[in-house]
Amino acid sequence: MIRVGVVGYGTIGKRIADAVAAQDDMKVVGVLKTTPDYEAKVALARGYAVYTLPDKLDKFKKAGIEPAGTIEDLVKISDIIIDATPEDVGRENKERHYQRFDKPVIFQGGEEADVAEVSFNALANYEEARGRRYVRVVSCNTTGITRVLSALLLNGVGVKKARVFIARRGADPKEHKKGPINDVVPNPATVPSHHGPDVQTILRNIDIVTMAVAVPVTIMHMHMAYLELDSTYTRDAVLEAFAKTPRIYLADVGAGFQSLAQIIEYARDLGRPRADFPEVALFRDSVTVRGNELYLMYGVHQESIVVPENVDAIRAIFGTLPKWTSIEKTDKTLKLSTDGKVYA
Ligand code: NAD
Repeated sequence: MIRVGVVGYGTIGKRIADAVAAQDDMKVVGVLKTTPDYEAKVALARGYAVYTLPDKLDKFKKAGIEPAGTIEDLVKISDIIIDATPEDVGRENKERHYQRFDKPVIFQGGEEADVAEVSFNALANYEEARGRRYVRVVSCNTTGITRVLSALLLNGVGVKKARVFIARRGADPKEHKKGPINDVVPNPATVPSHHGPDVQTILRNIDIVTMAVAVPVTIMHMHMAYLELDSTYTRDAVLEAFAKTPRIYLADVGAGFQSLAQIIEYARDLGRPRADFPEVALFRDSVTVRGNELYLMYGVHQESIVVPENVDAIRAIFGTLPKWTSIEKTDKTLKLSTDGKVYA
């Protein structure tokens, strides 16, 4: 049983904690919160021991929450730490707290790639995490692009060039101070956006350029991709590659999937925790092949797409399960779906 400590219990951290708790080969030994707010109370209600930073102990006690200990106590009792703190805090935590301990740490995509020895995506480079001390699960958009490209590459469809246009959600649903509210913001105005180079931290030889705008939406990101393939392939061959790949859901307009809102409604109807949709939601109707050109559109649920990747990264680091066994185990446990099939 791998003992997992989760530092940073926000949008990503709380989902990772629940996904880890759902596995039978790992358990959550504690979560670290900086504020004794409703999320801390939910964590306690879920049975997680709540830790905090040394200077926050009194604040927690005053709020009626007895912390289980400090960050160092949590690191000591964990076999591995998942750091899901905001951008750059993971690096600070590494320097201040983690480096003193001989424990592996998984960072998130808000950190620069050099915080870790390897950037990670289960489909693309599971084996590269084996035995590493510091691993970074790439961001939501990078995970989406890497999955789509890996689905093709793993199924013998060569990609010469990828050009991906990203409509980024302006904020997560809980973020009440972020925008835009009525705007479309080049994000950034320069090309490429950071996502292309980030994909190259995993798929090192891929020729990729990305451009991004932020839009007034909180539910999901939408990617529009143009891929130049190494040869001509039929549309069926391309669709088969996607259908065979875990964590990619082929959504049909004819089945009612006309927009990202309906993807989230589907997650709600399935009774998924927090209405999460960790799969890439690929609009089957958008998949168009013209000679060696492939066009497609897909949605990325930013709050959850990296969650199964973190679970697999734990097994990949310890080498407890091979790649496909881990992916299948994670997906079954989290009831993820591929091509219309939902795990019961
Ligand atoms: P968040 O703000 O929702 O949660 C971060 C949590 O960490 C908060 O609860 C915050 O209070 C806590 N925290 C702050 N400083 C801390 C410290 N010093 N020690 C411990 N905890 C601390 O952020 P998030 O959206 O969950 O993002 C976490 C990481 O995941 C970032 O690297 C982000 O880039 C990445 N990520 C976010 C998304 C997304 O869309 N939200 C998607 C993929 C990856």
